[in-house]
Amino acid sequence: MADALRRHFGRAVSRLGRSGLLRWTLVGTAWCLFVSLGYNAVAAAGIGEEAFRSGLPVAALLLLVLAGPVLLFLGYRLRELGRANRKLGLVASTDSLTACLNRGAFSTRVDESLTDAGRGNQRIKGALLVIDADHFKSINDSYGHDLGDEALRTIAAAIRGQVRKDDLVGRLGGEEFGVFLPGASQENAVGVAERIRRSISEVSFRPMGKPHRLTVSVGGVSFEDQLGFADLFRIADRRLYQAKNGGRNRIELTHIQAYGINDLAAVH
Ligand code: GH3
Ligand code: MG
Ligand code: MG
Repeated sequence: MADALRRHFGRAVSRLGRSGLLRWTLVGTAWCLFVSLGYNAVAAAGIGEEAFRSGLPVAALLLLVLAGPVLLFLGYRLRELGRANRKLGLVASTDSLTACLNRGAFSTRVDESLTDAGRGNQRIKGALLVIDADHFKSINDSYGHDLGDEALRTIAAAIRGQVRKDDLVGRLGGEEFGVFLPGASQENAVGVAERIRRSISEVSFRPMGKPHRLTVSVGGVSFEDQLGFADLFRIADRRLYQAKNGGRNRIELTHIQAYGINDLAAVH
C-alpha cells in the first residue's frame, strides 16, 4: 500500500508541467507553513502570546525562504528523472532498426492487454498475426545487408500503415513481425492480414535501382477465449509454417473459441 502510494506520487510529480511544478511548490510551501504555525501555536502556550507574536514573522519568513526553493528544486529534479525514465523505457522496448516494439516489449504488452480485458469482464476477443518475409536471405545475398535492413524498414512501415492506433506491432526477431489486434473479430483479422500481405507485395522497393518485389507469409489466430501470448504465438506460428509450405505470399488463419477450434484459411 505504502509502496503503491509512493510509486503513484512519484509518477504524478514526474509528469508535472511548468504550471504543475509551480502549483506543487506553492501548495507544498503552504502546507509546511500551516504545519509550522500550528506547531508554534501549540508550543507558544508555555511562553506567552507576546513572545509567540513577535517570533511569528521571522519563523514564517524563514520557512518560506527555505521550503519554497527546496520544493521547487525537488519537483524539478523529480520531473527530469521521470522524463529520463520514460525515454529509457521507450529505448528499452523499441527495436532500433524498425522502430517497432521489440519481442520482449511486444509479448509483455500483449499479455497485459489480455489480462486487462479478462479483468474488465469483457468478452475477450482479438487476434495475433505472425508475419515473416519470404526468401529474405536472397535479398541480403543479392544486394547486401544494408539494403536488407532497408527492406525490413519498408516492411515494418507497410505493416504499421495497415493497423489502428491501439494495435501493437513488434519485431519478433530477424525478418519476423507480430501484430496484435485487440478486440478484432475473425473477419477483421482476415481483413487486416490480407491488407498487410497485399500492401507489402505492392510496395516499391528498388535496391540498386532495380525493382524487387517484397512478399510476406502470414500465420494468425483470432480468438474468443482466455489465452496468453505464448499459446497464441504457438498457434499462429504453426499457421505461418503452413503458409510457407503452401507457397508463400499467402495468409493462413485459425479461429479459436472457448469451445474449440474452427479453422479458417484464406489462400492467395
Ligand atoms: P523463408 O521464406 O522460408 O522465410 O526464407 P528466408 O530466406 O526469409 O528465411 P531464412 O530463415 O532462411 O533467412 C532469414 C534471413 O533474414 C537470414 C538473415 O540473414 C536475415 N536477417 C535476419 N535479421 C536481419 C537483419 O536485421 N537485417 C538483415 N539485413 N537481414 C536479417
Ligand atoms: Mg523469412
Ligand atoms: Mg523467419
